[in-house]
Amino acid sequence: MRFGTKAIHAGVEPDPSTGAIMTPIFQTSTYVQAAPGDHKGYEYSRTHNPTRTALQKALAALENGKHGLCFASGMASIDAVIKLLAPGDEVVSTNDLYGGTYRLFTRIFEGFGVKFRFVDMTDPAHVAKAITARTKLVWVETPTNPMLNIIDIAAIGALAKKAGAWLGVDNTFASPYLQTPLDLGADIVMHSVTKYLGGHSDVVMGALVVKDDVLHERLAFIQNSCGATPGPQDCFLVLRGLKTLHLRVQRHCENGAVIAEFLAAHPKVDKLYWPGLPTHRNHDVAKKQMRGFGGMISFTLKGDRMDDATRVLASTKLFSLAESLGGVESLLGHPASMTHASIPREERLKSGVADTLIRLSVGLEDKEDLIADLRQALG
Ligand SMILES: *Cc1c(COP(=O)(O)O)cnc(C)c1O
Repeated sequence: MRFGTKAIHAGVEPDPSTGAIMTPIFQTSTYVQAAPGDHKGYEYSRTHNPTRTALQKALAALENGKHGLCFASGMASIDAVIKLLAPGDEVVSTNDLYGGTYRLFTRIFEGFGVKFRFVDMTDPAHVAKAITARTKLVWVETPTNPMLNIIDIAAIGALAKKAGAWLGVDNTFASPYLQTPLDLGADIVMHSVTKYLGGHSDVVMGALVVKDDVLHERLAFIQNSCGATPGPQDCFLVLRGLKTLHLRVQRHCENGAVIAEFLAAHPKVDKLYWPGLPTHRNHDVAKKQMRGFGGMISFTLKGDRMDDATRVLASTKLFSLAESLGGVESLLGHPASMTHASIPREERLKSGVADTLIRLSVGLEDKEDLIADLRQALG
């Protein structure tokens, strides 16, 4: 099956008791057994729930994997991956990481004796140098936030494999419509389902997809033992969101391209970061591993005055000032004062997060209206 067909049909079947075409919301904590241990595959909803099962199957199909596992948030899904490790184990990760992931690694798991090394992964040589005999996991995020750097998944995957380490990829920014890391050598693909997969800014959820049966068994054991599982209502909403994932992401890409072009030609815009531009520093890698370039765009204003950025952020009418991304509505944010406020200014500037950097999550509104909104706000 192709992507759009899978988005609509994978994992879901008409309900056998009624014929309902939509997977019911199985709002139940437990399941009646005919005799001790004689049940229909469901005992308790932390462990299994039919609505969640349908979603997990759908996600596995979309990522070209075999097993899906859903969690209460994106962070809970990464938390489960690190629990595969033991004190003394090492992780090599990108220095341009989602802030919440950096916090989980350094403020929680370093305390349990796991060691993290953060390197610029746009050059695989840095990864090769950071891998040691104790490296058990390489953790990649691409495109990165907010600089939209692109990391070569296949190149990093080869290095991880040689070292006997797992490769995990946070695929949140791309979505499986644009990029399927398991096809490029990843062992684990992770999503903040909250973003493009849910797609309607109404659910917080996370997911992992793997191919390997043993790895799945270990992660399912962690999922059930630690218990950060989502409820059936949220699973239903994501199943509904998935049915239009291909259409939504196509439109995110189209709008993204038009807005990137508009911004590139605007006299007040200094630097523009969108992997679809031939001038983007990792455009060749993006072209190789992605099927489109998405609706996430970052740009800076000429002149380096934070006030100028603040004025733009306060002036848009369609683009709402908010954290998060990947929903139908357009959002914009100011990394220096929002997501990256806790990082010292010097360090932030080194990684490109300038005072005037603005990040757009381009939504699905009509492109003419979005451009008119940005034109008046920049003016
Ligand atoms: C939002 C996000 C997360 C965290 O997911 P939550 O659902 O908010 O817990 C992780 N990685 C990336 C790239 C994200 O954008």
